[in-house]
Amino acid sequence: MTARLIDGKAAAQALRDRIAGEVRRFRDGSGRVPGLAVVLVGEHPPSAAYVRSKIRATVETGMESVEHRLPSSVGEDELLALIDQLNADPAVDGILVQFPLPPQIDERVVITRISPDKDVDGFHPVNAGRLAIGLHGFVPCTPLGCLILLQQELGDLSGLDAVVVGRSNIVGKPMAQLLLRANCTVTIAHSRTRDLRDVVRRADIVVAAVGRPELVRGDWIKPGATVIDVGQERVGQPDGTRKLVGDVAFDEAVQVAGAITPVPGGVGPMTIACLIRNTFVSAARREGISYEKSL
Ligand code: NAP
Repeated sequence: MTARLIDGKAAAQALRDRIAGEVRRFRDGSGRVPGLAVVLVGEHPPSAAYVRSKIRATVETGMESVEHRLPSSVGEDELLALIDQLNADPAVDGILVQFPLPPQIDERVVITRISPDKDVDGFHPVNAGRLAIGLHGFVPCTPLGCLILLQQELGDLSGLDAVVVGRSNIVGKPMAQLLLRANCTVTIAHSRTRDLRDVVRRADIVVAAVGRPELVRGDWIKPGATVIDVGQERVGQPDGTRKLVGDVAFDEAVQVAGAITPVPGGVGPMTIACLIRNTFVSAARREGISYEKSL
């Protein structure tokens, strides 16, 4: 068997196109442009690259994006003062602080300072709580993107056995909550899970968010299962180059799975598309319009 490839790039482009249409209507109706504020602290090159692509994608969708750059020596108080200013700014619908932050700043303090109603990353404890008890809030972009891909691939997920490998606050836990909300029977596996191979082999849906290149092998996958690979690590190759690989041994898993996301071109593009979605949903909510179900 050779698995179908789940084309995250195409799905992300389709979502971005839909949002661009809604943004045009929103601008005509409300007379204002949805705005995302992005805060980058220091010169960490991968963070700077992520921020650039998030800003580019936001602007391409017809929204505004303002970048705030702070030096790596900045104190926590100064960063919190900027967040307070952005929380109070009516032109700002979403606030994103790019992580990691320098060691003198406590990321948890920063996350809780962002207004839950502008927390388009969905990391604030209020939004984690809303997700857990089934209220509208902001859902972290990566797991939201994974859920969209799964629903496009499989339709109704009710009753399916799902295994999420990884329990981080930004991917694994919200992913499990989303799958539960979609009526899957959910198992969360982590570094202390016993017999991980057997746990994964039970699953109709496998979401791997581990950060361990190619940990999940082909013979861990139930034939026909749908595999979502969140991992992305650059791994050195024998010829000295570096290759982006996921948490799933793709060449093996593609022989067994029913459908699988490639790395790159799977989950990654959906993360940015969902950030744009959350920013637009925030702007619409602030105008009293609900888009929760349609986007
Ligand atoms: P993280 O915070 O480091 O969490 C990793 C999780 O994997 C932890 O829960 C850990 O368990 C578990 N784990 C580690 N080793 C394991 C093992 N041998 N067996 C089973 N579980 C194990 O990572 P993250 O932020 O969730 O990210 C995970 C991966 O997704 C990374 O490769 C990251 O680059 C990628 N990512 C991609 C996107 C995207 O847009 N495509 C976005 C976010 C993250 P414990 O809790 O027991 O330690």
